[in-house]
Amino acid sequence: MALKYCQGPECHTYTTKDRLKGMKGSKTYQTRRRSFLVYGEFCDTRCYNDWFNKYGTQAVNHFGRLKEVKHLTEENAWDKRYRWDYERNNGEAQHYYLNTITREQRPLTKAQYDDTNYTLNER
Ligand SMILES: [Zn+2]
Repeated sequence: MALKYCQGPECHTYTTKDRLKGMKGSKTYQTRRRSFLVYGEFCDTRCYNDWFNKYGTQAVNHFGRLKEVKHLTEENAWDKRYRWDYERNNGEAQHYYLNTITREQRPLTKAQYDDTNYTLNER
């Protein structure tokens, strides 16, 4: 199985035992290789942050810099929630939609809650 290399630019400079490899007399600290990297392209959050600190601005410029405020409107402010209400709901979770702007609540079934395609939001 092919190993993935951690993309952290400083990964090889962190002197942990698992990075120290090679024969006696020619050991080096090496970039971590794993069949599965927990942080996508990176072995840990330090390497993730190193990459972002070095390349984040370039990446934002490449993929498109936000140049104006975005708005989450009432029509799209519906958020699925649930609460435990032992007296009213026989110990079952009660699912509902909360509009995080107007604070209006609307009941949801468990199936609607679990359905990632079901939404009250317009887009
Ligand atoms: Zn790393």
